[in-house]
Order: sequence, then C-alpha cells, then structure tokens
Amino acid sequence: MVREAIAARRDFTFGEVTVAFREGRVELRGPRSGPDATALADTIEALPEHLRSDDHGRYRPLSGARTMPGNWRVSLPEKLTEAAIEAIYPQALLHQQQAARGTLRVVTFEDVVARQRGRYRVAGELGAAGRERARDALCGRCVRTPVWAGNAASAADIPCPEPCSVMIALCREAALWQREPPQASSPDPQVPFADFLTPGNEVREACLARTPAGATHG
Ligand code: SF4
Repeated sequence: MVREAIAARRDFTFGEVTVAFREGRVELRGPRSGPDATALADTIEALPEHLRSDDHGRYRPLSGARTMPGNWRVSLPEKLTEAAIEAIYPQALLHQQQAARGTLRVVTFEDVVARQRGRYRVAGELGAAGRERARDALCGRCVRTPVWAGNAASAADIPCPEPCSVMIALCREAALWQREPPQASSPDPQVPFADFLTPGNEVREACLARTPAGATHG
C-alpha cells in the first residue's frame, strides 16, 4: 500500500508517476521523463495545472487516464508526498486504504445508472456485452482498477469503487449505438478524450472495434 511506502520513505511507482525520496525531499516524475524533464514549480498547485492537458493539448477529463503528459518532474518537501499524490490522483490513497481495511463502498453500474436523470438515463439500456466493451475500452486506458465491475485489485492497485461520469457518458453513446450502429473510423489522437460522438475518438473506436459485426443488442 502506498501510504506504507510513504511512511517508510520507500521509492515507488503509482499509476504513471514515479516517486523517489532524497534527503528530506520527494521527487515525482511523470511518464517518459528523462534527464531533460521539465521542472515544475515546487508547489502542489503546479501539478493539477500541468496535468490538465495531455501531450496533444487535449483536456484530461479523467485524472486516471493514461494520457498524462510526459517528461516532467517536481521536487517538494517530503512531508507533502500525500498531498502531491492526492493532487494527481484524487481519493486514490483513501480508496486503497479502504480496500485494505475492507471498508471500500462499491457501487454497481445499475445503482449509478438508476440515479441518472435526463439524457444519461439511456445508459441503463446498454446490455452486458456492451458494458464489458465500454469497460475494456475506457477502464483499459485508466490507472484505476474497476472493482465495481468485479475486477480484482491487488494491494498495490488503485481500486475504482463506482463507474465514473466519463464511463456513464460512454455507456450512453454505446446504448444509442445499439439502436443505430455507426461506422468505425481510424483513431485520431487529436479528438478530445471524452468526445465519444466524434468519429476517430480513440475510446469510441476501441469500443466499435470490439463490437461484433451486426451486433445491435448488448
Ligand atoms: S470507471 Fe473506469 S475509467 Fe472511470 S475512473 Fe473508474 S476505472 Fe477509471
């Protein structure tokens, strides 16, 4: 569990971030960070600011999405390690600790859909196979493990206790695709991450690619 590693000042990797302790300070590095990595301002606030967009300049609506910009580092007093992780992956430490203690409150897809109003309610029409495709396509691009879908999380994983709003938005579109299957397109990394309506969206295309030809239900 990461909180134990922090308490012991032990280096670790969490999601896409590597964390190393050096002489009273902690250094966090993003993916693909080399010796020329950009040094961020040494404040907690610099992290969400820098991580708001990916390397293509696209807004990142999902903190756990594996679209974190690369080649950056930040050095902070080691007492700020938990706060830095919280700024990068909100609630991840809490959920990991709750999972270890057996107190993580898991909410099912059905329960989340049942509380939707208006345009997102149709997400509940998505069949089991469609949900599985949506989960594979979206959660497969996220550092969190969807325990709400029955996936097993190890002590080192970041458990995700309930479908996020991006997942519900994807399931809404996928439910509509059941009625009228769209044409598949080539993935286009310029299309915004959660713009599932636009052909070329990577998650949309991953979902459609997993859909058997002629499947209109589930
Ligand atoms: S539902 Fe999936 S994509 Fe959304 S936060 Fe959880 S694991 Fe990540």
